[in-house]
Amino acid sequence: MNLPIAKYGDPVLRLKGRRVEKMDDRIRELAADMLETMHAANGVGLAAQQVGEALLLTVLDVLQTEDRPSTLRLNGREIELLAAMPLILLNPTIALDRETDIGTEGCLSFPEITAEIERSVAVNVQAETLEGNPIEIEATGLLARALQHEVDHLNGILFIDRMSSVAKASLQSRLKRLRKETLRGEKQNPARASQINL
Ligand code: ZN
Repeated sequence: MNLPIAKYGDPVLRLKGRRVEKMDDRIRELAADMLETMHAANGVGLAAQQVGEALLLTVLDVLQTEDRPSTLRLNGREIELLAAMPLILLNPTIALDRETDIGTEGCLSFPEITAEIERSVAVNVQAETLEGNPIEIEATGLLARALQHEVDHLNGILFIDRMSSVAKASLQSRLKRLRKETLRGEKQNPARASQINL
């Protein structure tokens, strides 16, 4: 089922996710719905908060883009990126590499807004699968960036919190308008397919 995506201004985006203790049918169905919703919205990642659930659950499906290639090691083994997609991760924790770079990000909860965000170039994520098995992901490139963006969502942190103050100031009126539209329940344009939406 394609779920409505929570937009900036919806308080659920600021909630910290609860741990998922039991991988039951409800969680499996939610994960499947999140994948469908992310794909329909041309997203690369989606966190449970973005569909109104404050849970430590995220889905990702990075496309292999020429300009922003990713690498992935799964449980210590180098793996073909596309073969491992989509990823469904529960209760993730993330360790960040000290080296950072700046890249353009969009967010499905912020239609038509993009920003340059500084993130670590590599991450190590420990999580659980839908089957309840532990999984370790070492990623670089777009996947590393997407994982940081999604784990932020799970902690109630939004990409506007990571923008430079100058960038945020320049977006202030658009953010205000978006917030107002969300609070009034107005329908917004979908995110642009041409940008990287996380
Ligand atoms: Zn996002």
